[in-house]
Order: sequence, then C-alpha cells, then structure tokens
Amino acid sequence: MSIPPQKTALPRRIDARKLVQREQQLDGVVPSEALPRLGESVESVSGDVVVELTFSRDLQRNQMASGHLTLDVNMLCQRCLQPVAQHVEGELAWGFVWSEEQGKALPKSLDPVIQEGDELDLYQVLEDEILLNLPMVAFHDGECVPQEHFHSEAPGKAADEQQENPFKVLEQLKGSSSGSK
Ligand SMILES: [Zn+2]
Repeated sequence: MSIPPQKTALPRRIDARKLVQREQQLDGVVPSEALPRLGESVESVSGDVVVELTFSRDLQRNQMASGHLTLDVNMLCQRCLQPVAQHVEGELAWGFVWSEEQGKALPKSLDPVIQEGDELDLYQVLEDEILLNLPMVAFHDGECVPQEHFHSEAPGKAADEQQENPFKVLEQLKGSSSGSK
C-alpha cells in the first residue's frame, strides 16, 4: 500500500480570464463530497478527483485550458449487483466563452465552457466531465456469477440471446469461414 502524495484542493470558483492571462497551471484535487451528482451516479467514490489543468491561449487566441482528471469509483456490477472498482480518466480541452454564441465560434477541438460573469464554478464543470467519462455499465472482469444463473437472471439482452442459442453460434462459426462478421 503506497500513500498518495498530498495535493491541495482546487479553488471552487475561478476567473478563467485571469488564469489564462497568467498561463496558470492547476494541479490538485476536488474532494468527492463536493460533487453531489457524481455521488448519486455511482455506489461510492474512492478518494478525491485528481486534476491537472493548464490555462493558455491557442494559436487563434482562444482562451483555453487543457489537462486531465482521474478518479476511482465503485459501481454496481450489472451481473452480480456487487460493487466493482472502476478507474475513470478524462481528457480536458476547454474553450472559455462568455455566451453560447461565442461557443459556436470555437474550434471543434475545444469544448465550450461558458463563464457567466466574473467567476466560473470549476467543480461543476469538472463534475460534468466526470459524468461524461463514467462507463455506462460496469462488470467484474471475471465471471462473478455462474453463467446459467446469469442467463436466468438477465433475460432479453441481445448479446446474451446469442450466447444462449448454441445452434445459432454453430451456424455463425460455420458461416464465418469467409471472414465476415
Ligand atoms: Zn460482478
């Protein structure tokens, strides 16, 4: 067990304009308690969200920040309904704008982040990014539930039906000699 290096909490409210001017680098954490929507979306969050952000201007003089975030959560395995640990990562590429109209002018490589007024709720923007990067469903790597049990528990899923019919699988095997899938 290694002890992760202590990082300071990021400020919740920032003025993107100032951080861009200073070409500020932020390297810190967001306490998971400060992210209620994330808390509702997963079973639990392990530790804090680790964030690195660099504020700058791109070649077109757009005010932007790039970086990444990582966190560890527990989600419910959709087979056995027990918690399964998931490592979540997200790449961040934000273009700061002050209206939706300005956002439309940004290059596609930047996700518009609208700062209303003098301050931006950094935690809320990060929480949006985390929710976008959460896996839709989670499963244990191994077979946490015996297959026959799984089949009776979760009927009607297309992927399972294919496995359930051995003759269909045989047909597919026979027909797959041409290499098409
Ligand atoms: Zn499981």
